[in-house]
Amino acid sequence: MSGRDDITVALTGNPNAGKSSLFNAITGAHQRVGNFPGVTIEKHEGYTDFQGRRITLVDLPGTYSLTPYSPEEIVTRRYIIDEKPDVVVNVLEGSNLERNLLLTVQLMEMEVDLLVALNMIDEVEEKGISIDVKQLQKLLGSHIVPTSARQKRGIDALLGHILRIADGSIEIGKNKLAFSPEVEQAVEKIAALLSHERELDGKNHRWLAIKLLENDREVYQDVQKYPVWVKVELALQEAITECERMHRTDPELLITEDRHAFIRGAMQECVSLPNAEKASLTDHIDMVVLNRGLGLPVFFAVVWSIFQMTFTLGAPLTKGLQFLFGLAGRSLAPLLPDPLVRSIIVDGVLAGVGGVVVYLPNIVLLFIGLSFLEASGYMARAAFVIDKVMHRFGLHGKSFIPMVTGFGCSIPAIMATRTLKSRSDRLATIMAIPFMSCGAKLPLYVLLAGAFFPPATAANVMFGIYLLGIGVGLWTAWMLKSTILKSDSEPFVMELPPYRWPTIASVIFQARMKAVMYLKKAGTLILAAVMLIWAASNFPHSREIDARLTRDKARIQTSAALPEAKAAQLVTAATRAQADQLEYSIAGRGGKLLEPLIRPLGFDWRIGIALVTGLAAKEVVVSTLGTIYSIGHAGQGAADLSSILRSDPGFSQATALSLMVFVLLYIPCVASIGVMKKEVGAWKPVLAYTGYVLLVAWVASFLTYRLALLMR
Ligand code: GDP
Ligand code: MG
Repeated sequence: MSGRDDITVALTGNPNAGKSSLFNAITGAHQRVGNFPGVTIEKHEGYTDFQGRRITLVDLPGTYSLTPYSPEEIVTRRYIIDEKPDVVVNVLEGSNLERNLLLTVQLMEMEVDLLVALNMIDEVEEKGISIDVKQLQKLLGSHIVPTSARQKRGIDALLGHILRIADGSIEIGKNKLAFSPEVEQAVEKIAALLSHERELDGKNHRWLAIKLLENDREVYQDVQKYPVWVKVELALQEAITECERMHRTDPELLITEDRHAFIRGAMQECVSLPNAEKASLTDHIDMVVLNRGLGLPVFFAVVWSIFQMTFTLGAPLTKGLQFLFGLAGRSLAPLLPDPLVRSIIVDGVLAGVGGVVVYLPNIVLLFIGLSFLEASGYMARAAFVIDKVMHRFGLHGKSFIPMVTGFGCSIPAIMATRTLKSRSDRLATIMAIPFMSCGAKLPLYVLLAGAFFPPATAANVMFGIYLLGIGVGLWTAWMLKSTILKSDSEPFVMELPPYRWPTIASVIFQARMKAVMYLKKAGTLILAAVMLIWAASNFPHSREIDARLTRDKARIQTSAALPEAKAAQLVTAATRAQADQLEYSIAGRGGKLLEPLIRPLGFDWRIGIALVTGLAAKEVVVSTLGTIYSIGHAGQGAADLSSILRSDPGFSQATALSLMVFVLLYIPCVASIGVMKKEVGAWKPVLAYTGYVLLVAWVASFLTYRLALLMR
């Protein structure tokens, strides 16, 4: 027996996992001992004949890892890379899986044809440890055969699998471990660079890239001699800077952490220890947070507290800013004699832009809350807990993080779906994200909930709005996944990184960045939109209405009423004229055109204008309301928009609820539709989706309005 029918198998595993015992059990007397080339490490080789084929086994030295820090590790990985065995068998000590899997994960990274021998299965049974082998197999993407070298169990099954893997008659899964986005990006970039180097043809570029990021001196020496190094070194530097900025650590540590997070996640899902002698703080917290019964309630409590904080802590700060803008309006107005200029500054800039800027504290608080969850490691736990719920909607827990990102902004959230490997999962998640209420919608909720509900209920109303968004998003995903995007959901390990306190510096950094972005948006996009809205709501100008106002004024002045009554009448006349001018303007006419469509939702033409302008960016809904309503309310100023709305006969609590629901659900901003098109790859589905979203928003608002009217 010889030639191409021969199969070479390398045995790898931690020291004392039972490699040698397994090797002896398989090869019996057919053994040979030598040394690995260049080192005095014993090399055991042996063979067995199985189903008419010769299988040669090499017992590699035991290692915990594949870093090049010990001769054993170097020998092991050189053997795998240079000798290219047909199958690599990874022998695991079944009762010590968590530690053993670290090597498994690194073998997965090498993308070899891997077979896992779950050894000492006798001990596993004896200790009462239960391992969900099927699920673990799915999560790792490798075949697993339980064995006991001592009791000679599972040996034939192992050999049978070796044959079938070598022949390619059973499929080897893909490597399922993905690193943190920053690392993953760097790995892909460096691997692409390396693939251009002809001398490196046939090598595993992705693995080389990972090793370079890990500061692997062997691989460094290997790659440094080629011209491509210049570019690679730059990319490495970039990755180090990025990881330092985002995580305050280096890529090497981050990679190690990602591996442990993967393993911890797999362990949580597949292994249960009898009477856990768990010790670490992480384990203690996880026992509560990942608990079957408590996990979900804890999650809701955490999110609810963030909303309470956003609203409660934000409210006095927002009030302060509103006071400042109001003061600015009142003190500027007398200095601006020209009525047109005064209107641009007071009704336009101060009411429109100021109306958005006052919600800066809420936005920043929400982001601090979200980034705290993310950086502390809790978000990953939440994803783990939500995983089971998500499965019911045809989604995977991996969709959860992009969806939570959607509470900040849809654009990075849609891009974050790239971590999902299945296209149908990705599309369903992308279509669910716009319903996760983004930060730009928050000002409107704060405005309306604050204006129409007592402070104690306002935060709960907002929380309810967010829940409604989540519900509609999941429902949309479920509909898609059970019809046009049908596919089996692929199992993944939900990574569980260690808990850590986010550094104050990084929280401040995030908050400041968010604040600067928000203010920039207010100063550019929103300012421009506000100017357009101001112009559209002031022109064309009706001379007739002017003339009527002049006549009214003259009549009031010459009447016999008391001076105070006269003053009040003058304000009423001016306000009426302004309102009529607004109705006469382009914006007014556009809004009127729209009115029949939105009347059933409790909206008049002024809200219609705000909804159209809100397409540019959702903050603009508030800006537009600010500008339009302050035009109609001479001299009351921007800051008091909430009391203007409260006193407006066209605006009731039911209208407020209905408007919050509509703004929550209707098309995300133009920019996110653009990103969606880019990620989906075609306009048609995106436009169809836009139509669907509008319909859903209309129906939901209609129901909300009617219900709210009934409940009054
Ligand atoms: P190696 O370091 O990976 O080569 O591990 P060894 O084969 O030397 O085994 C280490 C110890 O584990 C020895 O005492 C073996 O008898 C024991 N051992 C190996 N396989 C099994 C098994 O399947 N069940 C049990 N209970 N013990 C085993
Ligand atoms: Mg040994």
